[in-house]
Amino acid sequence: MAAPTPINKTEEEWKVILSPEQFRILRQKGTELKGTGEYNKFYEEGDYKCAGCGTPLYKSSTKFDSGCGWPAFFEGFPGAINRYPDPDGRRTEITCAACGGHLGHVFKGEGFKTPTDERHCVNSISVKFVPGNAPASI
Ligand SMILES: [Zn+2]
Repeated sequence: MAAPTPINKTEEEWKVILSPEQFRILRQKGTELKGTGEYNKFYEEGDYKCAGCGTPLYKSSTKFDSGCGWPAFFEGFPGAINRYPDPDGRRTEITCAACGGHLGHVFKGEGFKTPTDERHCVNSISVKFVPGNAPASI
């Protein structure tokens, strides 16, 4: 899949589209309270799309229980997620490649038994689950 088409909106336009909490997290890089997210312990089959612009970001088959208090994925759709070093020099921020919405952070090498040994720590509020019948083999 090619990188999604960039979506450019002003912060004023986002304020109209998003709820105040979505705006705080997606546009102002906030973080939802640990353990409170809608998808923290949620394992239905389907896709997780960007709550801001609808770009597909993660497949349910890449979601795993990290115990960290936020939804965790080991891999996003190719080209759907951008990574940026945080100003603190320690963490790596992940954003929607289309609209730039803040998703959370990605951590590497924590020893989770996943194909990538990465943990995409994502705010539930940054994504919207869409049910679907993903092939069980993926
Ligand atoms: Zn987006």
